[in-house]
Amino acid sequence: MSMTLVISQGYLPIGTVTVQRAVQLYVDGKAEIERAHPTRRFRSMRMVVPAPRIVRLRANVKLPGRLFGAAPLGGGNHNLFDRDGRRCLYCGRGEAEVRRAGHRLTRDHVVPLSRGGSDAWRNVATACEPCNNLKADRTPAEAGMPLLAEPRTPTAWELVRARHGEVAELFW
Ligand SMILES: [Zn+2]
Repeated sequence: MSMTLVISQGYLPIGTVTVQRAVQLYVDGKAEIERAHPTRRFRSMRMVVPAPRIVRLRANVKLPGRLFGAAPLGGGNHNLFDRDGRRCLYCGRGEAEVRRAGHRLTRDHVVPLSRGGSDAWRNVATACEPCNNLKADRTPAEAGMPLLAEPRTPTAWELVRARHGEVAELFW
């Protein structure tokens, strides 16, 4: 599905919406189109709208306060991997390199669940399968595998930036 980046008046990346939703924000007068697809168009009742790639909210549209609150960890690993820059926090290999070696990134519990560790931001780290298997049922200290970064709770905005780093930089 084609997604559109939403930015604030101050060019702060906020999140993504579907292209259809972005067109609706524009038609409703809630956002301006900052960047559009060169050829793709949407036809609404009264106008033809270029497919937005980036929409900028108008000044009177309030930013969601949850943006600066803790992001949900979620059951899937999407948010976790984004927080950690899609790399293994033990060996430092990126997702592409891990995949080329025939492995995947996984969710590691720093203090293993079997030993009372929780399934929460501060106790989870992105780990490639080999590192996760090697660490097994041990803490990083016991396994002699120090973490490359301290697992912390990211805000929703930090995850947006991790996902749209390039685009965010353009506007930052
Ligand atoms: Zn690894």
